[in-house]
Amino acid sequence: MSKYIFVTGGVTSSLGKGIFAASLAKLLQGRGLKVTIQKFDPYINVDPGTLNPYEHGECYVTVDGAETDLDLGHYERFLNLKTTQANNVTTGRVYQTVINKERKGEYLGKTVQVIPHITNEIKRRMLLLGESGDYDIVITELGGTVGDIESLPYVETVRQLKWELGNDAIVCHLTLIPYLKAAGELKTKPTQHSVKELLKNGVQPDVLICRTEHTLGKEIKQKLARFCNVSNEAIIEAIDAPSIYHVPVLMEEQNADKIILDKLGIKSSGKSDISIWKNFINKLNNPSKEVKIGFIGKYVELQDAYISIIEAFKHAGVENNCKVEIVKLHSEKLNDDNIAAQLKGLKGILVAPGFGDRGIEGKINAIKYARENNIPFFGICLGMQCAVIEYARNVLNLEGAHSLEMNADTKHPVINLMEDQKDVTSKGGTMRLGAYECSLKENTLAYNIYNKEIIAERHRHRYEFNNKYKQKFENNGMIASGLNLKNDLVEIIEIKDHPYFIGVQFHPEYSSTVAQPHPLFISFIAAALKV
Ligand code: GLN
Repeated sequence: MSKYIFVTGGVTSSLGKGIFAASLAKLLQGRGLKVTIQKFDPYINVDPGTLNPYEHGECYVTVDGAETDLDLGHYERFLNLKTTQANNVTTGRVYQTVINKERKGEYLGKTVQVIPHITNEIKRRMLLLGESGDYDIVITELGGTVGDIESLPYVETVRQLKWELGNDAIVCHLTLIPYLKAAGELKTKPTQHSVKELLKNGVQPDVLICRTEHTLGKEIKQKLARFCNVSNEAIIEAIDAPSIYHVPVLMEEQNADKIILDKLGIKSSGKSDISIWKNFINKLNNPSKEVKIGFIGKYVELQDAYISIIEAFKHAGVENNCKVEIVKLHSEKLNDDNIAAQLKGLKGILVAPGFGDRGIEGKINAIKYARENNIPFFGICLGMQCAVIEYARNVLNLEGAHSLEMNADTKHPVINLMEDQKDVTSKGGTMRLGAYECSLKENTLAYNIYNKEIIAERHRHRYEFNNKYKQKFENNGMIASGLNLKNDLVEIIEIKDHPYFIGVQFHPEYSSTVAQPHPLFISFIAAALKV
């Protein structure tokens, strides 16, 4: 039988519940326990697939094709495990299930209500992974902040589950201890209020994880313990860390994993073995060189829009013993006149995934510059499509070549809509999503990088390379080095006479983890180091 850890958040959002959950899971995994993490988001969208990056940051895609919260990316990167649709549930999905059941008449004439019908559906989903028998511990992160109206059904479900599961369930509440500069003091009141909010809903937290910019003294801890009915040792400090990867170590130093296991009634001795993790941090802290990579996208001003790519660079940097300095360039600000000045000194250029026309010419400009000046280039999804467009226009002389996504009337649609997308009208969950196999051509850059014939990578797109132009491209130096053999889709393109020029239709960033950095990112950084 699984044990359950619920992670709630109070005072403000963005406290890092996902990172705490992933860090705790890492420590438990280091003790040989089988752990998974799931996230429940209180918004009405069925999934975050239709949310733009200003609203929601990156949309993370699982192997089984679910469009999910970016915290699932952290779970995978930390635990080196694959998540699935079951690991992310939204209010929209819960209601959709309940309403569909109601339409089928499954409630037998009853009035369908938040309690018990919505909470029962939440409960069913909260227990689902635990009931698979695959996990010793299921960590459930509740999105949002305690006290929000939308969070209520989740907190109520946690109350019921705590009651039903007894010692097999605990609640870790993440909160903020602000520092008032004028008073020179850390303040516990917001946390007291936030715990009261939980208590009002019948939930007593077992552990407090306190985000802070300054060390919490003994007195502050005692005060928190006294006012919040939490034992002294279960007040855990979560001080600002140099990187997300330092958090498991900071937690381990305070014995957070042992304290939590004790509360769950799981006997533990010694320490969690996270030596591989510590090696990684050691290398991350002590790079022997540095490399500057240009990162071109239209959401570069947002912290979370490309988080998986940013993290994949950190993994690949460590593998190459170097610090990857990412120079973010807004694609809308790049043009013919400034491109050389903007890209000067960069040892590699990555063009990001994306949708729509905005900033597209800047991306194409940057690719032209990288191609002509022998700078390593790596294009992901839209980045790959832009490389195809650039090559069509400037090498194959197909004037006005474009993607049908950006220009429905182009004379040369080198990127066109996928066949099975042509009749798709609704937007949610209808792209080509999830992992597909791809076969690599021998004696290509792609084959050398992966060192195998068949790979599987995750997708999220509607458009693809137009095979009508394939021969023309291949005759002129741009080859399709990765193909989906089932439907002949081009998944990878590359240029022969270039130090490193590769574009991939899939998203390798989703599968880069601390334990297994992605070979494309590793080789790209290695190539950049040679420039
Ligand atoms: N907009 C492009 C498509 O739908 C690329 C998508 C992406 O970069 N994820 O095909």
